Amino acid sequence: MRIPRLYQHMLWLAVAGIALAASAGCEPSGYKISLLTYDPESDDYGIRIKRVETLENIDRLDGSATVLRGSASLKLDYTTGYLEWRQPPRSVAFDWFESDGVIIPADFDSLAMISIYYSIELSKLFFEDLGFKSKILEKMPTYYWPSFDIVDENGPKSQKDNAFYLYLSPKERSFFILPFEQMQWIPMALNTGIITHEYSHAVFDVLVWDRNRQIQDQMVPSASNFVYALNEGWADFVAVARTGDPDFISHSIPKGLFVDFRGSDVVRDASMPLNYTAYLDQEARQTPPQSFDPYGIGAFVSALMYSFENRIDTSEITTNNIPSLEARVHVGTWFVQALDDMGENLTADFELYDFFSFFLTRIDSQTARTDFCDLLFDRYSLYYEEVRGCP
Ligand SMILES: [Zn+2]
Repeated sequence: MRIPRLYQHMLWLAVAGIALAASAGCEPSGYKISLLTYDPESDDYGIRIKRVETLENIDRLDGSATVLRGSASLKLDYTTGYLEWRQPPRSVAFDWFESDGVIIPADFDSLAMISIYYSIELSKLFFEDLGFKSKILEKMPTYYWPSFDIVDENGPKSQKDNAFYLYLSPKERSFFILPFEQMQWIPMALNTGIITHEYSHAVFDVLVWDRNRQIQDQMVPSASNFVYALNEGWADFVAVARTGDPDFISHSIPKGLFVDFRGSDVVRDASMPLNYTAYLDQEARQTPPQSFDPYGIGAFVSALMYSFENRIDTSEITTNNIPSLEARVHVGTWFVQALDDMGENLTADFELYDFFSFFLTRIDSQTARTDFCDLLFDRYSLYYEEVRGCP
């Protein structure tokens, strides 16, 4: 039987797929794939061969971490709160060939999509290391390169160069990877730290907000602002802890390019010690939630946790002062548990020190608790007295 050329190609792909799957028999599961990722040793991005463990359908980039979906067109109208799907998403086609047992993406989109899949997989697996039961977070689709308009008082604006998590309902959460325009730096969506930051917002939603939707509308403005800021600090904290890169945003946005009137840079560096200042506090207490900038207090939280990891780190080998993975996993585990406690006990007048009180009760070592209190004494002196559990 003569097989048409196109089908020959498809048949070859299918055979190669089976062969790869079979050859993986006694090796760890998954596929060896050449993709773009970050290396903490050299502190740079490059094409590297990695094992992607959770893919179930490689041609459609569908696995337990996420499923990539393409061709969508949406409009999110902030004036009405309505999300309109102008064109539904479709399966993507991951184009690849095989060389020496390694899967090589055949075009730029395929490279970008598999690199994003891998970042989401790493985020999911890291959360499992922190004791977060990923079962409670349903698999979220990732919309790749959609046409996405946001409508506000100034009219519709097409969104580019961004990656974000969007919550619609407990059954509908997703990631959006918007078209890349600025290519001279690592696009936001290919920045593995930014993907983890976004993934962490989904986890925060599950731990804190899903259980408290009814309180959300009754919260005093400062309480909303503190939760919002904590959410940003948490997301940065996990991105730094997973990648081992305190300065992960700087690969996508040059330092000093976007600095606001207070001198705070959009590129947040967790290795810079920051104090909780009276200015930050007033901003949280006096700004209405819709115009509050959460990143100042967020940066304080992630820098505090970074210093804490360094204080409790008992490993002798540290690269460039980056805390060991062990220390990062300890602090991350306590952070997850504290958010869980916060979700159980959230009040309409929530204060940032309430979170630190939850966090302290989860630290399971007396020395580490003392270290954390010492840090709060230095950097959070305004409200140190309010934290329950410190001397
Ligand atoms: Zn964020």
